[in-house]
Order: sequence, then structure tokens, then C-alpha cells
Amino acid sequence: MLTGRMMDFPLTLTHFLERARTYFGRSEIVSRQPDKSLHRYTYADFYRRTCKLAHALARLGVKPGDRVASLCWNHSQHLELYFGVPAMGAVIHTLNLRLHPNDLAYIARHAEDRIVVVDRSLLPLLEKFIASVPSVEHVIVIPDDGPTPEGRLDYEKLIAPEQDSFSWPQLDERSAAMLCYTSGTTGNPKGVLYSHRSCVLHALTLCMNDALGICETDTVLPVVPMFHAAAWGMPHAGVFTGAKLAFPGPHLDPKSILDLMADERVSLAAGVPTIWLGILSLLDQEPKRWDLRAMRTMAIGGSAAPPAMIEGFLHRHGLVVTHAWGMTEMNPVGTLARPRRQHEHLPQAERLALRATQGYAIPLVEVRHVSDSGQVLPWDGETMGELEVRGPWVASSYYGGEGADRFTPDGWFKTGDVVTLDAEGYVRITDRSKDVIKSGGEWISSVALENALMAHPAVLEAAVFAAKDPKWDERPLAAVVFKPGQSASREELATHLEKRFVKWWLPDDYVFVPQIPRTSTGKFLKSKLREDFGDHLVKRQRSNN
Ligand code: ADP
Repeated sequence: MLTGRMMDFPLTLTHFLERARTYFGRSEIVSRQPDKSLHRYTYADFYRRTCKLAHALARLGVKPGDRVASLCWNHSQHLELYFGVPAMGAVIHTLNLRLHPNDLAYIARHAEDRIVVVDRSLLPLLEKFIASVPSVEHVIVIPDDGPTPEGRLDYEKLIAPEQDSFSWPQLDERSAAMLCYTSGTTGNPKGVLYSHRSCVLHALTLCMNDALGICETDTVLPVVPMFHAAAWGMPHAGVFTGAKLAFPGPHLDPKSILDLMADERVSLAAGVPTIWLGILSLLDQEPKRWDLRAMRTMAIGGSAAPPAMIEGFLHRHGLVVTHAWGMTEMNPVGTLARPRRQHEHLPQAERLALRATQGYAIPLVEVRHVSDSGQVLPWDGETMGELEVRGPWVASSYYGGEGADRFTPDGWFKTGDVVTLDAEGYVRITDRSKDVIKSGGEWISSVALENALMAHPAVLEAAVFAAKDPKWDERPLAAVVFKPGQSASREELATHLEKRFVKWWLPDDYVFVPQIPRTSTGKFLKSKLREDFGDHLVKRQRSNN
């Protein structure tokens, strides 16, 4: 091999941090506080405080590779942790504040966190599990109006006396930067250890025009929590480009988000569909209230964005959705739905349908789908199989070594998503393998059915899931939430679906509920629906007999 003669310059988040200081000192970071007021400072302030934080953590004994956990909403101090901890060579471990204390205890023990930084408002949650995590030596509290209890360190007082510059160590780009756990809906949560290199390459790719095009003139609003899959890389890409950042703090209700979008002239926002369904519903009620002309696009992912929502935003409010697919195991973005040049001539409905797919792989990510026996399947838009991925920001193993069966001997990661791939590479997720409905041995796509239900004018949300059936094993059942003041009968919903699906795909029944249960990351929690209504059809049959 003739080796190239170029510098082996490490790809690290430290470079992002230094770049922000050098060029973007005046860019702003805005955070909504618990009392709803807005806190503002500049990247110059952010840089200085990040240095102070690194000094304080070093003084507490944090060494390279140590895990420093955060239990926080999205705000500027969380951003300081996102950069200060990895830049000093340690690892930021984001704890998901929506998990049960037992899960948090398991995760913090597994990660062997030495320090936890916690929002004061979340202290009651921390107190429920911290005693059972022996590795934790210090708890640092990010203060608000309330008191910081005895025996806990106050973040602001801790960093105040420290120097505002830091001599960052030279890091290997392969060193760990961040630890994120999967939500563990199947089995125990598993740790995914992002490297500096994976964070950098992922952020860089997100900034491409053909991806999200994040740039210095953007104002980026990560609604997606920073405790979930690195907030999809938004904080990394934001600091890298010097974009203005707007953080929602704990206020994730539609009105607070829309206020922030309008007041801060947000150009790019990112979050899961359940958040955006609420926002669309409020916009429909008060279409003139918010000036959203600065919005370039809303990145929506984490679960399938219903086509009716994508269309509603575009046609009723002139807002463009960029549908994305990803997972904790991949830093997390893998595919992104954008029509290409060859689709320009397509009728609008077809272009919209492309936007509703999960899209095609972003650069440096490769995809394939395989049969149950591991056979690689054709990209014909019809054959369903499990999606597998590989690339520089795909996990090569879990932290701790669990789940080794998710990694194939030929170097791919098994996503657990059932998909089709078409000739142009567009991925369509039909289900997560654990949510698949198998009726008489045939698969029914719950995602396709719920997307169609959510296109009904009276329906706010719908989740379709497997209910037990004595004859067919499983049959689809739909849980439906209506928009305020609206309703529809079972027959109307069935008629609505009949136009689009073969008969045996139609749900056997509909249950009307006030809200679809959610996972800790805001997705429909179908396991809970199966638990609550799994026997519904069996019971109905019994009472009919
Ligand atoms: P969890 O959902 O277990 O909390 P992740 O956030 O890592 O953890 O979830 C990744 C999964 O979310 C994917 O495997 C896929 O099933 C689902 N997902 C993510 N984005 C989309 C999308 N755009 N459409 C459909 N499903 C999605």
C-alpha cells in the first residue's frame, strides 16, 4: 500500500468547541427556564463556562474515560456538559428522565457513573434511585428558584471560581465521548458508546445541504430531548456551525414550542411525531397566531411521521417536514426523506408520498434488508425484511457486551425494523419486529394502517397493534384518539380504511381512548396497548357466544 501523505488530524468535539470560540463568539444560546422566562447568553459565555466546568470536574477527580451523567432537560448547562465532559476526555452519559427509577438505577450502575449533574426540579426523581448506585461520588445540582439541599453541590457555585480557559488534552478520535442507553422496551437497556469521531462525522453529514443543511444562519430548536440519542446530533451540529440554539427547557407543550419558534425565529426544529401532532392541531385551531416564516424545515423522526401530518403542515401552514429515521445505536440518524432531482416532474401527491417514506441512507451509512434466514433481499419496493445498517456512526457492539446477536458476522447491525427498499433506495418501515401483527402467518403493517387512520379528519392519533385471536393468532386492533370536539363511528373508520386496504388487513375493532400510552421517548407504547387490550377480541367473542 502506498500510504497517503496527509495529516492524521483527529476528529474531535474539542475542535467544534474551539471553532465556536474562534468564530462564533457572538452567536446566541437561548434556554427556556422552569419559570418560563428566557435565559440568553453567547457562545463566548458558553465557551468560558465550559472551561470552568472542566476545571471543576477535574478538581472533583474526573479522569479520562470516567462517566459523568446528566439528568436534565434541554438547556445551556446541558450543552456545557455535552462539550466540556468529552473535551476533557471523559464521557457524558445522558440519563433519560422519563424512565422508571429502577431502570435509571440499573443504567447508572451499569455505566458506573461517578458524578451526576441534575436539574433541581428532577432531584425528587434522582433521590429515588441514587442510593442504589454506589459508583456515584458527587451530585451536582443545576439550581433554579428552589433550594439546593445540603450535601449536594451547586453547579453555579461550583464553576464560579474556576478559570475560564482550559488546556484541552489531545484526544484520540476513537476515544469515547458520549454514552446513551436504548430505552429497553425489549430486555434491559443497552449502552451505546459514541466516539468523538462518530459524533463529528454524523454532525458533519447532518449539515450537508442534502441532509438538514444546518448552517450558521440557522436557529436550531432541538425539541427532541438531549437525554435521547444525543438530541439527534443537533447540539453537535449547532456548535459546529455556530448556529443560534434555542432550548425549550421542561416546557414541551405545543403552545410553548410555538411561542419559542415564533419569538426566536427558529428555522430548524426537530422532534418526534407525537409532539408535532399536538403542534399541528393547535396551529389548525389558531392558524394566524404565530409568525413561522423563518421556519426552513421541521425534522421529524423517532417513529413514523404520518403522511397526513406532513401534508397538513405543508398545505395548511406552508411548513416543510423532513422525515428522518434513526436509532440510538447510530448516533442516531440513518436515513432522511428528500425527493431527488429525478422526482421533480412527479405530481405533488407522489412527491409527498416520498417525503413520507423513511427516506434513503445519508452519506457514509449503508443499508440492506434480509430475510429471516439472513438472505439479502431485492430492492423491489415489495419484499419485506429486517433492515441492517453499517457505517462510521453505527455501534460495533454494546457497552458491556450484551446483545451480541444484533451484530452480524459480516459487519452489519440488525435494526429490528421490518422494511421494504425500493429500486431508488427509499426505505419504508412497515413495523418494528416486536410490533409486527401476524395474522394467519401473514404480516400486516401496523404503520400503514395507523397512517391511514390519522388521515381521517376526526382522528388526532391512532395506534394499531396485535390482539390475540383464537383463529388467526393475531388480528389488528386500533386505538383511536379523536381531535377535541370530534368523533367518528367504528363503521365510518372502517369505511375510510376499506378504500385503501385489502379486507383482511382491516382492524377487527376500534377502541376509543383519551391518549395513546407513550414510551419514555414519546413514541406509541404498543406493548402497553397489547397488555390492556390484547384480550379484547377474545372477550368480545366470548360475550357474543
Ligand atoms: P427506542 O424507540 O427503543 O426508545 P430509539 O430511539 O433508538 O429507541 O428507537 C429507534 C427505533 O425507532 C427504530 O428502530 C425505529 O423502529 C423507530 N423509528 C425511528 N425513526 C423512525 C421513523 N422515521 N419511522 C418509523 N420508525 C422510526
